[in-house]
Amino acid sequence: MIKIKQISPHIRRVTCPNPSKFTFKGTNCFIIGQNRLTIVDPGPIIEGFIPQLVAALKPAKITHILITHSHRDHSPAAAELKALTGAKTYASGQHNIYRTDIDNPFKNSGDWDFEPDIILKDNQTFNCDNHTFKAIQTDGHCYNHMAYALTHIDKNPTQDDENCLFVGDHIMGWASTIVAPPDGNMSRYMHNLYKLQTAPYNVFYSAHGAAITKPKTRIDELIKHRLSREAEIVDCLKQGIGDIVEMVKINYPKLDQALIGPAAMSTLAQLEWLIDKNMVVSDAGLTIDAQYRLANEAKNTIYS
Ligand SMILES: [Zn+2]
Repeated sequence: MIKIKQISPHIRRVTCPNPSKFTFKGTNCFIIGQNRLTIVDPGPIIEGFIPQLVAALKPAKITHILITHSHRDHSPAAAELKALTGAKTYASGQHNIYRTDIDNPFKNSGDWDFEPDIILKDNQTFNCDNHTFKAIQTDGHCYNHMAYALTHIDKNPTQDDENCLFVGDHIMGWASTIVAPPDGNMSRYMHNLYKLQTAPYNVFYSAHGAAITKPKTRIDELIKHRLSREAEIVDCLKQGIGDIVEMVKINYPKLDQALIGPAAMSTLAQLEWLIDKNMVVSDAGLTIDAQYRLANEAKNTIYS
């Protein structure tokens, strides 16, 4: 039996039964409204879950399905939900990657079949019943990542109104977000963290884990985390250590063997950002095996 929890006057949450080391307790699926409902992220395909959800929400009608991004733990159940209810799907576009010149080890984590009915642009607003949503482009973790703001419920706002942002995987309280090229892009991720520093929302609802009630504090922590990782990498490069495997050994000294791969991908993402900022050069493109150097030390080489 699914458990639907009222988390604010207009929002309910059900956590999909897909807990894992990547999804924490499972994907949070949000339900907004009373009579005509909006669903944010119906989650992965889990037998029986969507029919149970639809039955539990009756007699209300589901009309809008918002997808934060097309990773397999977020969007695949949209097709079943749409078939059962006739609701339309909203997203910034189909699954995509940032570059095609490198291998994509995350190919299987993408929902390549997902096709939104309505393609949203950054800052586009739309209504469901008497709710107004605003799409906010927050790519970086995934190429088509959108956050959704819920600002007003009624024409005459009351203090009961929500002022929140459904942030998907862009910002989470329990862990930092996976950002790995070519599925993700660190420059875009950081740009969209900085962008939300001045956003006027009281609470962030993440796709995994608890609500974030101090959004600005959490954003500051996440920015600080990536900048300190960057400083560690720059320190390695200053010492002439330009090999990713060596950098991981130094910067993640007590790391579990199973997490060496993710740490290497994260280092690669940070290096891509440094290359984007013209601070670093590589002798063999953006790969795990390449040798990386600080750009100002490489001026007189053929790679500069
Ligand atoms: Zn994701």
